[in-house]
Amino acid sequence: MLVSGGSRGIGRAIVEQLAIQGAHVVFTYHRQHETAQALVRTIREQGMICHAKQCDLNAPDESRAMVEAIEEEFGEIYALVNNAGITQDKSFPTMSETDWLSVISTNLNGTALLTQAVLQKMMFRKEGRIIMMSSVGGLRASSGQSNYSSTKAALIGLTRTLSHEMARFNILVNAVAPGYIATDMVLSMPESSRSAIPKQVPLRRMGAVEEVAAPVLFLLSDSASYITGHCMVVDGGLSA
Ligand code: NDP
Repeated sequence: MLVSGGSRGIGRAIVEQLAIQGAHVVFTYHRQHETAQALVRTIREQGMICHAKQCDLNAPDESRAMVEAIEEEFGEIYALVNNAGITQDKSFPTMSETDWLSVISTNLNGTALLTQAVLQKMMFRKEGRIIMMSSVGGLRASSGQSNYSSTKAALIGLTRTLSHEMARFNILVNAVAPGYIATDMVLSMPESSRSAIPKQVPLRRMGAVEEVAAPVLFLLSDSASYITGHCMVVDGGLSA
């Protein structure tokens, strides 16, 4: 199993839950080397298998080389969870080209090209699962996030198209769209925006990372063998 951006937040919860279920997990991180190594140590101390690989999603050559290296060192990648993502929020008329391009490049281009590298391996084996981490921001208006919501909507389009293209190779492709989840991404929002979140959510709270990891694990399990092209919304009712 390969999880991108697995060192923190939602990705970390997915890595931990997969390891607990006995999966051989490799996760990627970008800059926070010590955080990633600490997670590897924690998981290994519990007798489970886990490896970390540094990789910048903005560098497609790095992603392709990493996929080759993982398959050589650790074996076939059965599933890819495209979790890594960033935000650079600003009102659209004042958004810089750099803010626009960096989010598109990481969340959409980086995810698509990592997926392509992994799919090329899976297609030979005629088996695999892909999960895209979208967002309710890709399903409804999200002021200040035009760049981010564009990428998250695009990932749902990519999920649907790949589900058809990959069906004959027995590869299932699904997306998960979380609402507000308590991670660094949301906790770095201004206090005024953060404190307004519970009032907007019918369940009156943010979600926990484990509450996103659980549906991801379901979509990777045998129980989800007839589900493909689906986007599972995990948002406490926010977008209903
Ligand atoms: P975090 O910011 O907590 O963690 C992001 C992870 O992505 C880290 O492991 C980080 O590595 C990695 N990463 C960042 N940039 C790159 C890059 N250029 N290349 C490779 N890896 C990178 O994110 P969350 O857990 O909050 O979010 C995870 C996913 O869920 C994202 O796709 C996000 O859009 C989505 N999501 C989150 C929501 C939320 O409320 N939190 C709501 C809806 C969707 P490092 O630690 O080294 O920087």
